[in-house]
Amino acid sequence: MATLAHAAYRFRRTLRFAYGYVASIAALPLLLRKNFAGELGWLELLIAGGVVAAFIGRVVALSRARALDEKSLSIEIEFGLLSLTLAFGLIHHFGELYQPGLYLLVALLAAFLERRAAMLLMLVAIGMDYGSLALSEDAGDLGPFFVRSMFTTGFALSSVLFTHVEIARIRASGRRLIAEERARAAEEGKLLRNLSPAAEAEGDEERLFHASVEEVRHALYPLLRLIKASLDLHTLALLRYNEERHELRVREAASDSDDLAEGPLQAGSGVVGAVLKRSEKMSLANLKPGYQGLVYYEGPAVVRAFSGFPVIDEGRLIGVLVADRVVDRPFTAADEALLAQAVEQILRTIRNERLLLSLERSKRQQSTLFQASRQLSTGSSFDEVLAGGLRAVSTIVHYDFAAFTSYDAETKKHRVDHVAGDLHQSLVGLEFRDNNSLTAMAVQNQHYLPYRGHHDPVTHVVFTKRAKLSAELRSLLILPLIWNEKSVGTLVLGSRKTNQFPESVREMLQVITKPLVASLQNAHAVRRLQELATTDGLTGCLNKRAFLEELEKSLRSAERFGRRLSLLVTDIDHFKSVNDTYGHATGDVVIKELGAVLTRVKRETDIVARFGGEEFCVLCEETDIEGARQLAERAREEFAATVFRTEHGELRCTISIGVATFPIHAPSGDALFEAADKALYDAKNGGRNQVCVA
Ligand code: GH3
Ligand code: MG
Ligand code: MG
Repeated sequence: MATLAHAAYRFRRTLRFAYGYVASIAALPLLLRKNFAGELGWLELLIAGGVVAAFIGRVVALSRARALDEKSLSIEIEFGLLSLTLAFGLIHHFGELYQPGLYLLVALLAAFLERRAAMLLMLVAIGMDYGSLALSEDAGDLGPFFVRSMFTTGFALSSVLFTHVEIARIRASGRRLIAEERARAAEEGKLLRNLSPAAEAEGDEERLFHASVEEVRHALYPLLRLIKASLDLHTLALLRYNEERHELRVREAASDSDDLAEGPLQAGSGVVGAVLKRSEKMSLANLKPGYQGLVYYEGPAVVRAFSGFPVIDEGRLIGVLVADRVVDRPFTAADEALLAQAVEQILRTIRNERLLLSLERSKRQQSTLFQASRQLSTGSSFDEVLAGGLRAVSTIVHYDFAAFTSYDAETKKHRVDHVAGDLHQSLVGLEFRDNNSLTAMAVQNQHYLPYRGHHDPVTHVVFTKRAKLSAELRSLLILPLIWNEKSVGTLVLGSRKTNQFPESVREMLQVITKPLVASLQNAHAVRRLQELATTDGLTGCLNKRAFLEELEKSLRSAERFGRRLSLLVTDIDHFKSVNDTYGHATGDVVIKELGAVLTRVKRETDIVARFGGEEFCVLCEETDIEGARQLAERAREEFAATVFRTEHGELRCTISIGVATFPIHAPSGDALFEAADKALYDAKNGGRNQVCVA
């Protein structure tokens, strides 16, 4: 029962959605047999009525779908089938004379329906024609059928082609209009911006700026209207002058004319050109009807009197105010005075808005700077400071490459300390001298580079000739970092976008780098203090305190993981006599050299310390007795082979070394020292210049 009800529902639903097909298919046998040609019986009338009703229904459905912009391929096909059915019926009934109506119908369907539906309907039309031919008595005569089919196809295809071309044309002209509108807006912008034409505004800045253009427009129009009414003018318009292109455009106008030209207008011609050229007001009366000198009208003017005023802003000619009258009444001195006042008012409006714009801009800059400065780190480590600096920079501007370089004025060397972004990570640690690179020049001149902020991958050497920056980077900025009036490094920024670092951005970056440099210097100082506290000044090896700390740590981990740990204690043989014979300074050279030898022969994980006087210690992690003895032997041999040239001739020294291994010789740090010391004592007693194991 349920299935039956469901089937009935499905049937009704299908019928509701496809009654167009049902009506056309029902009409088909009658059409093919040309039943509509003669007297119409009740069946023909019934079917014809059904087709007409379905046709009306589909017209309604189609227009609704079009209005809602819905997809309607099936409805289009139904609509087409029903119209073809009607057309064939009419042709059969009223005779061949109406055949061209069918071609027209096919062309219309091809123009207004979707292309797939149109092509299908064209084939259906030909098929129906052939069907009724095949069923008729003169089935063999295909000639007229081919001619009809050719016409049907021709009409349909040319209609599709025409529509296609027309749509393309309309789209192109639409695009052109939009481009023109954009150019016009940009043009108006320059008036306010009063910056170099290359100055680029982005995103927010652009919106801010358009709002200002609108503001000026709102302010200008009522003013023009008021003066136009009070002086009985036909047109009062502000023409904006573009100096580079020597063009005029109507910027704002109050006019009764429908013939105002949009521009760009030839700036040099006519009386407007004369006002521009002389930068003086000019009034004309008794103009001949059809006078051609008013470039702001399309075609000849109908006005009889004209007055034009140059608009000069801070010495720069920025436009012309034009006024004219249809009635032949010259502009009086009083009229001209009013127009001159209007020019003043226009200038005030533009200047006010420009001022507001710059205030708004600096307000935004301040808020960006505030956000950025909150990102700066007050941490004392180098990495913390750099990371905070980069966060602050990215609050101000997006970059694809950022690097910090440092400059050492003593060694005259630059170093790439830090790189951020997906490019050139390998540059970290790159060192270079004071070369001709942009970085070196920015440091020397304490001035940002390159001047235009544009990256030229061919000519620009940012660090060194070999380390070229990617050609993908279109914008580049190298800002010197200055501390106490000296350059201490640079911030280098690159972006794949062009004009990414305009003046406004650069200024903000300059502000934010000041506290950043202070923090960097602070981190430098902290690092230097740490170095002083842990290393020995003469040899650069660790000092005793730092060494004991390291030993503690190493012992703990050796204990935990059950690993060996060896300690070497060295002492120079008969060093007192070296001092006595060659002097203390030479003694220091010898001590320094021993530090260098030990540092050279040790493994990377081993630690060397100057323990005091001419005694050194080496801590070897994960090293057993044999490994430690070999290391000690190498050090002893290398040092013994070292020749010191002094003013008293050549000098050779030797060392004695004691070795002890944890936990074999001792269970704790102190005991380990004791054991190694004892071994050293044995080495001294054994004749010096030798290694002894505890
Ligand atoms: P031995 O072979 O037994 O070690 O004889 P030695 O003369 O080297 O004796 P000892 O190790 O006791 O001598 C330490 C000497 O090292 C004392 C001091 O004159 C010298 N000395 C200690 N510190 C320094 C230093 O910083 N510079 C110089 N030039 N000499 C130092
Ligand atoms: Mg000693
Ligand atoms: Mg000694």
